[in-house]
Amino acid sequence: MSARLVIMGPQGSGKGTQAARLSQRLGVPAISTGDIFRANVKGGTELGNQAKAIMDAGDLVPDSITNAMVRDRLAEPDAAEGFILDGYPRNAAQVQALDAVLAERGETLDAVIELGADREELLNRLAGRAAAEGRTDDTAEAISRRLAIYAEHTAPLTGAYAQRDLLVTVDGIGDIDEVTERLMSALGSRVG
Ligand code: ADP
Repeated sequence: MSARLVIMGPQGSGKGTQAARLSQRLGVPAISTGDIFRANVKGGTELGNQAKAIMDAGDLVPDSITNAMVRDRLAEPDAAEGFILDGYPRNAAQVQALDAVLAERGETLDAVIELGADREELLNRLAGRAAAEGRTDDTAEAISRRLAIYAEHTAPLTGAYAQRDLLVTVDGIGDIDEVTERLMSALGSRVG
């Protein structure tokens, strides 16, 4: 099975949860740039030290760092048959960088999933997550900063992917299993 996917959606849309489920179904790794950064912060690596203050403020880590990190991760053997990128690309420069990495490998994306949810639902979910997980960037200020960056820089990327006929839009509201089924049927023959 090969599946080269990007999953996009605002903070709280459930994209991390759904990326993990699609990973199981499709047999390709879910790669979350946020998770990789958090693991580095926790491990006290140089990358983690560079990223921590930026992440806590809800800002984007510089593209040069993020792009290099994704390139390295995609070079791992488990990503040879595909991947689900969660949280990347997040701006136009990262879209270009990803295209360049894939072109070097002779690969192209199969689909870009946009998971939608309304703002009230998002804020409710984020408040719940802040209580449950204790993420240091789930403060009110950092959340609103991340949602603003998403709206300004990330949401517009769907237009470019739609023009390339890659965009698959799925409603992220509802039962977790139901959303996974929706995603699988929306992907249809694009994966496999
Ligand atoms: P969320 O989707 O809730 O913002 P993530 O786990 O995807 O959470 O990201 C957490 C933080 O990690 C971001 O606010 C940002 O600082 C950093 N980060 C993650 N992905 C990227 C990226 N593609 N480019 C730059 N920074 C990123």
